[in-house]
Amino acid sequence: MFFGYLILTMICKKCGMPEVVYLTTQYQYIESGLENIYLENVPIISCERCLTKRPQIIETDLLDITIAESLILKPFPLIGSELRFLRKNLGCSLNQWARLLHFDEKSLLDLEMDEETISPQFDLLNRLIYTKLLEEKAGQIIINNLMDKFLAIDFQHSDNLIVLINLDIPPKYYYLQPNLV
Ligand SMILES: [Zn+2]
Repeated sequence: MFFGYLILTMICKKCGMPEVVYLTTQYQYIESGLENIYLENVPIISCERCLTKRPQIIETDLLDITIAESLILKPFPLIGSELRFLRKNLGCSLNQWARLLHFDEKSLLDLEMDEETISPQFDLLNRLIYTKLLEEKAGQIIINNLMDKFLAIDFQHSDNLIVLINLDIPPKYYYLQPNLV
């Protein structure tokens, strides 16, 4: 859905046509590597000849941290692509992350590809290490009351949630049931 063209800006790298920018109410942000992240009211840059489109995101790092936070505090189990997102957000290769967890690379890859079941303990360990490393990097506590939030996770739940992100500064996010998008 969009509500009108706004401005002509950049040139398409493929065909040289001017690209158009329009606002969408909801954009599925597959560029994140996750299927359940949606951005709210984001400008989309599009080439109408090549039928390409991409979101215009100014604060990419801030968006990535927001997505990561929504995963750390997710009240349901993480899936493989979400483990991968957290690892990559810290700039770690598969090998580095496997070494950190004293785990083998192939098993970690199987978990990230959802070819093996992620145990609650492994899920929590990933959330915990991510949070610790991020906070060390930032030099401050980013997530408060982690214990209560971890205790509240429902590991029996199987549906994945939609995360809807509003790109205000600071960005806000909401969890939605999949049938609401
Ligand atoms: Zn083009």
